[in-house]
Amino acid sequence: MYKTLQKYFGYTSFYPLQEDIINEALGQRDVFVLMPTGGGKSLCYQLPALLLDGLTVVISPLIALMKDQVDGLLENGIPATFINSSLSYNEIEARRRSLSNKETKILYISPERLVMPEFLLFLQGLKVSLFAVDESHCISEWGHDFRPEYRQLKLLKERFPRVPVMALTATATPVVQADIITQLKLSGGKVFKASFNRKNLYYQIKPKENPYHQLLQYLDVRKKDSGIIYCQSRKTVESLASGLQTEGYRALPYHAGLTAEVRTENQERFIREDVEIIVATIAFGMGIDKPNVRYVIHYDLPKSIEGYYQETGRAGRDGLKSDCILFFSYGDKRKIEYFIDQKEDENEKQIAYKQLRELVSYCEGNVCRRRLLLAYFGEIFDESNCGSCDVCLEPKERFDGTIAAQKILSCVYRVGERFGINYVIDVLLGSKNQKVAQNQHDTTKTYGVGKEYRKSQWQAFIRELIVLGYVRLDGDKYPVLKLNEKSRDVLLRNEIVFLTRPEETPHIFKAEAGEDYDRTLFEQLRVLRKTMADREGVPPYVIFHDTSLKEMSTHYPQNVSDLLMISGMGERKLRRYGDAFLQEIVNYCKLHNIEPKPLLRKRPESLIKQPKASTVQTTLDLYKQCLTMHEIAKKRGLALSTISSHLERLILDGEDVSVDSMVEPEKQQRIMQTLKEMGMQTLTPIKEKLGDGYSYEEIRLVRAKMMREGEKEM
Ligand code: ADP
Ligand code: ZN
Repeated sequence: MYKTLQKYFGYTSFYPLQEDIINEALGQRDVFVLMPTGGGKSLCYQLPALLLDGLTVVISPLIALMKDQVDGLLENGIPATFINSSLSYNEIEARRRSLSNKETKILYISPERLVMPEFLLFLQGLKVSLFAVDESHCISEWGHDFRPEYRQLKLLKERFPRVPVMALTATATPVVQADIITQLKLSGGKVFKASFNRKNLYYQIKPKENPYHQLLQYLDVRKKDSGIIYCQSRKTVESLASGLQTEGYRALPYHAGLTAEVRTENQERFIREDVEIIVATIAFGMGIDKPNVRYVIHYDLPKSIEGYYQETGRAGRDGLKSDCILFFSYGDKRKIEYFIDQKEDENEKQIAYKQLRELVSYCEGNVCRRRLLLAYFGEIFDESNCGSCDVCLEPKERFDGTIAAQKILSCVYRVGERFGINYVIDVLLGSKNQKVAQNQHDTTKTYGVGKEYRKSQWQAFIRELIVLGYVRLDGDKYPVLKLNEKSRDVLLRNEIVFLTRPEETPHIFKAEAGEDYDRTLFEQLRVLRKTMADREGVPPYVIFHDTSLKEMSTHYPQNVSDLLMISGMGERKLRRYGDAFLQEIVNYCKLHNIEPKPLLRKRPESLIKQPKASTVQTTLDLYKQCLTMHEIAKKRGLALSTISSHLERLILDGEDVSVDSMVEPEKQQRIMQTLKEMGMQTLTPIKEKLGDGYSYEEIRLVRAKMMREGEKEM
C-alpha cells in the first residue's frame, strides 16, 4: 500500500482515516466516507483501484470535472478514462473497447450513463471490483443538492450484488447520511467520519465599513494568489469584477445571469490560472476542484452557516494556509431579511430566518470561530485557543465602558423605548436627521452627547450590550430597543460595564505571516509549471500542486534522489518533469549562491534510481550491439511485445535508444498524427485506425518517443 502511494502519488503518509478506509475497500466491504473538502477522499478509491484486480467505477455528477480528474490520474501514470455525454459516439466506442481489453483501472462515469440498460449489461460483462459513489448526498432529497438521476443508483446492489460500494460525501447531516446508506443499500459497512475541522483555514470577520477599500488593501500583498470573492447580487459581482480589473487585477465575474459558455470559460480560465480572481454569486464553486485557492472572501453576508462553511471550504484544499474573510454589517442582514420576506411559503420563511439568526450570532460572538462552526456540525472543539481565527489571535481588549453604556441606555429611555439602534445613534451623534427634529428629540438631554465615537463604534457597543443582556431588541420587522432590570442597574445603581475596546483603525489587515520558503524561486517554478500545463492542455495543479513547489522552494533539490523526497513526486512525474524543474532550481541556486537544504524523509530504496531489471538491461545490451527488435526477440526466445515494452521503458528512462532505426520516418509521422488526434492512453483504437500495416510494437515505441520529447497533446 505504501509503495503504491509513493510510486503513483508521491506521498509518504496517509491523511487521517484514509488507510482504514482503503483497507475496507481492499477487503471488499461496503463503506461510507464522510470527509470535509480537502480531506483526501479521492485517494480512498484511487489507491484500492490500483491494488484490486479489475475495474473501479467512479460515479460522479460533475461531468465538467471528469476530464481534469482523469488527466490528473494519467499524469500520475494511472490508466483511467471517463465516459459521459461530452464524448462522441466513436470516442465512447473506443473507450469501451479499451475497457474490454482491461487496459483501464479507473472509469469515471455519470449516473445517467451508468443506468442505461445497455451500459449496465456491458459493465456486467467486465470485472468490476469497486463502485465509488462520489458526492453521494446527491441521492438524498434532504440534501442541498438532490439529483433525481442519483436515485437510480439503487440499481447497483441489485445488479452487482457482490461488488462493494464506497459512498463518499462532504456534506451529510445525520438525516442525509442515513438516507444515503438506505438508498444505496450499503450493508453492514463501516462508517468513517473525519473531523470537519479545516486546520489550515484562518477565519476572520471584519466589520464592513468601506469594503472596497478594505478589499484592495487585502489584495495588495497577494497579487499572485488565487481567490474567490462571493457577493450577494449579480450587480455587485459585475461592478466589483470590473473595478478590480481597472485596478490591474485579473478578475472575472461568475453568476447565473451569464450564459453557460461564458461561465464555463471564466471558470476554466480561473482553474488554468489565466486569472487570479473570480468574483461570484454563490452559484459558483460546485464542481471546481482547484486546490490552491488561497482566500475566500465574503464581500456580503452569506445566508446560512452551512452555506458559509461550504463556500469557505473551497479555500486551501491542498492543505496550505488560506484565509476565509467575511465582511459583516447589519445592513446586509436587513437586505437578506427583505428577501426572506418576499418568500411565499411560511415554513421556508421561518427556516431562512433561523439560518440567518444563527449566522449573525456566529459573526457577533466573541467566541472562537472554529469552535462555533464545528459545534454547528455537532463536533466539540475544546482547545482554548485554536491559533487560527481572529478571536483567538487578536483577543479584543476590554475597557470600562460604563459611561458609554449609560449614554446609550439613557438615550433609549428618553426616546421612549420606541426606536431602533440607528435612530438612537443618530440622537447620540446629534444628527440633523428630519425624523429626529420632528420627534423633538434634538432637545433631549442625550442629543449630541456621543461625538467621541463613530457610528460603527456605537453600533458595536449596542450590539454588545444586547448580547450581555443590558438592553433588548423587541419586535421582528422593525425591532426597537427596550430597557430591562439590568439596564436599571447601570443607569441607577452605577453597575460597571466592561465593553470591547473599539479598534482605532478598524480595517488594517496584517500582512501574510512569514511562511518560510523562497518566494522568488516559487514564482519561477510557477511560471514553468504554467508553461508545461498549457502545452499539455491541463490545469497547472495536475502537473504539480503548490505544496510540491513550496517544498522545492524550501529545500532546493539538486538531483533526482533529492527530488524524490518532494511530496507529490511520483515515478511518472519524476520522469516527465523532473529534469526541467531540476534545471531551473540548480541554475537558480548557482545564480544566487544558495546552499541546498536537504529534506530528510524516508523513501523506499526501490524508488531511488531503480537499477534496471536485468532482463531490460539484457535487451539494452543487445540493442547496443545493433540487433533489430525481431532479432533480439528471436535470440532471447521472448515475444516481440515483451521486447518492445523493454525498449519503451528504456526510451522513457532517457536511454539512448533511437526509434528511427526501428520505425520508418513516414510511418512515425502517421502514428504521431493519429496519437495526437485520438489521445495516447490506449493503443487499441489507434491500431484499429491505422490498420494492418502498423504493429502494436511500432505504435508503442513512437508513443514513448513522443512522451519522452514532451510533445504530448491530448
Ligand atoms: P476531497 O475530494 O476530499 O476534497 P481530494 O481528494 O481532492 O479531497 O484531496 C485534497 C488534496 O489533498 C489534494 O490536493 C490531494 O492531492 C491531497 N492529498 C490527498 N491525500 C494525501 C496524502 N495522503 N498526502 C498528501 N496529500 C494528499
Ligand atoms: Zn479560534
